[in-house]
Amino acid sequence: MRATASAVIVARHLHVRGIVQGVGFRPYVFRLARDHGLAGWICNGGDGVQIHIEGSTDSIDGFLLALPLHSPPAAAISAVESGDADVLALTTFTIRSSTPTTAPTTQISPDLPVCDDCLRELFDPADRRSQYAYITCTNCGPRFSIVTGLPYDRPQTTMAAWPLCARCSAEYDDPADRRFHAQPVACPECGPAFRLVQPRAVAGLTLSGNPIRDAAALLAGGNIIALKGIGGYHLGCDARNASAVQALRTRKVREEKPFAVMVRDVTVARELAVLTKEAERALASPARPIVLCPAAVVLAGVAPGNHEVGLMLPYTPLHHLLFANGAPDAMVLTSGNRSDEPIAFHDDDAERRLAGIADAFVVGERPIARRMDDSVVRITAAGTTMVRRSRGYAPGIVAPIPSRQPILALGADLKNTVTLVVDGHACVSQHIGDLEHFDARTAFRDTIEDLLTMYRIDRQRLLLAHDRHPGYCSTLTARELTSAITVSVQHHRAHVASVLAERGELDRPVIGVAYDGTGYGDDGTIWGGELFVGSVRRGFERAGHLRPALLPGGDAAARSPVQAAAGFLAQIDARVDFMQPPFGFPARFRDSQALVAAGIRTIATTSAGRLFDTVAALLGFTRSMTFEGQAAIWLEQLAGTGDAEDQYPSFIDGPTIDWRPLLCAIITARREGVDPARIARGFHWSMASGIVTAAEALSREYGITDLVLSGGVFQNARLTSLVTSAAAAVALRVLTNSAVPSNDGGISLGQAAIAAAAA
Ligand code: ZN
Ligand code: ZN
Ligand code: FE
Repeated sequence: MRATASAVIVARHLHVRGIVQGVGFRPYVFRLARDHGLAGWICNGGDGVQIHIEGSTDSIDGFLLALPLHSPPAAAISAVESGDADVLALTTFTIRSSTPTTAPTTQISPDLPVCDDCLRELFDPADRRSQYAYITCTNCGPRFSIVTGLPYDRPQTTMAAWPLCARCSAEYDDPADRRFHAQPVACPECGPAFRLVQPRAVAGLTLSGNPIRDAAALLAGGNIIALKGIGGYHLGCDARNASAVQALRTRKVREEKPFAVMVRDVTVARELAVLTKEAERALASPARPIVLCPAAVVLAGVAPGNHEVGLMLPYTPLHHLLFANGAPDAMVLTSGNRSDEPIAFHDDDAERRLAGIADAFVVGERPIARRMDDSVVRITAAGTTMVRRSRGYAPGIVAPIPSRQPILALGADLKNTVTLVVDGHACVSQHIGDLEHFDARTAFRDTIEDLLTMYRIDRQRLLLAHDRHPGYCSTLTARELTSAITVSVQHHRAHVASVLAERGELDRPVIGVAYDGTGYGDDGTIWGGELFVGSVRRGFERAGHLRPALLPGGDAAARSPVQAAAGFLAQIDARVDFMQPPFGFPARFRDSQALVAAGIRTIATTSAGRLFDTVAALLGFTRSMTFEGQAAIWLEQLAGTGDAEDQYPSFIDGPTIDWRPLLCAIITARREGVDPARIARGFHWSMASGIVTAAEALSREYGITDLVLSGGVFQNARLTSLVTSAAAAVALRVLTNSAVPSNDGGISLGQAAIAAAAA
């Protein structure tokens, strides 16, 4: 261990920051130090790991060079500070117990999928963890979902209740073992177990007593099973069994919103969907997200009327065991909740809330520290885009945001996330959901408490950012946390800022386009088709917008395309009875028209989302939506079914993008019997051309060539790709979201960046 007698012994102290706890970093450093003949120690601190090494200068240099090169797959070093230290004349390298500190700012690892080494043992009949659903090691398993405090050590995880047996303990203490200091390590002898709780007797099935084999048999028999996962309960059933899928829809009160499907392996995924290389990479990536891809076969009831299917690969030992024990090779796996409530993650709550839905429960004894939905990504021409950022990504740092004080950004009321900026790093929370639901509001408050407590944030120093909407739950919560200073941020500026925050470019001047459904504007009206000029640092000036329309009936207009259409169509002199073919609008349209005519319960809006809904109504989507964004998704997919294209006029009048000539052209085409798919393509083209024409004018005026696109409307891959190519043709460079969603899930990050710049 000692350096040669001739060499001078020196000592260095290192402070390593980043994702370095709970990812096998200490054992890695232990082995590296041993390989370089160095003595010293390593320990977890509240702020990364501290390392003391001593040996020859040569050995230390070799160690420092190798340190970032071979670190464990889930580790991410963000900074290494190194300084001289006193030589302690140590003879060995040791792992010391953690030092609790006053302000932990270490990054917590997201949850990881089970690794190949553990899978091999799981299916090795001779291994003592054979078939053990809580198998894990330093390279895999749950992290954020089991952490109850920092630093990351077993007593501060939900595994604290299970003392290690002699054999597990020996592995935990052996630096040469891959379970060395793996905090959730367990075995059938000492660890938690799964059990089957069967509230309903199922005819014709004799149970074996093995909970996993029985659950697999129940699934294969068409039953609905609640499964405890990483961040909460899932509801699962055979995706190829239409009546099981329909029963799940009925019991869960979920009419048409697509279900995700977990497939046994990539071979099954290839059978169900058209997979690009990129989609396969995303499926197998450590976050194991749900990947939206074009469906290759129709699974009845799984994604009604939708051309895409959301697939994911197994990521826990339990999933792999179910498939190996005869579960259907494609299973619907959806959040354990009714309708839009937050996912259930406590056993008693799950058993109560899901009692009318699940035929049986697979209950795991290991508690879940916090709820976490599956993440969702979509593969588009622009690459992999985030739709819902949650398990496997949260609470990973998405960007540096320089700030001397901690910032908590509370997000929007739909698709809520919150962002905490600590030590200049922005952590975006897991997906929380729509705050109109009581349970989601509770989850929202829990998540805030969780983050502030975990990072021991001084609430007196906290800078709070929230949406400018005075009625938003997130805004009202900002008022409750009274000790802090608050900054209100306009919704669409936050969308644009989210793209720049991701890239750490707070000073870059851009033309920012925010197209979405709803956001509170500077003038108190509903915005949603906005163009800005400026930077995060200097602020964004509104430089253009869609022509305002009148929206009748408030929020309900977002669920009824014909209701939105009444507001937009009132502004054109079409001389058409939309109740007649080919439009055939229902009576709701006439009632909405009456509201608009009388000026009752109407509000001005520049919403691009409602313009998409209007066009969807004109092309045949005249019923109510059963989930948010349904009509726009339908319209995008309709455009994808045609190949011919018409180009409709886009009309720029000063700062206003006027959609009236476009709607008139669409109405005429529809009455002339033009194929709706062809019209849908033309509409997308025209929307893109309107954006780029307006942006080009701003580019000339301000000398800015970067064009930011954000807001939920840009989840439309066709629109984004049309804008990108049209922008390239006039030398504009397009910047979009990638680390956070372009929908309201990204709002909190944008708010945090704007608050940091304003402070
Ligand atoms: Zn493992
Ligand atoms: Zn054990
Ligand atoms: Fe928005």
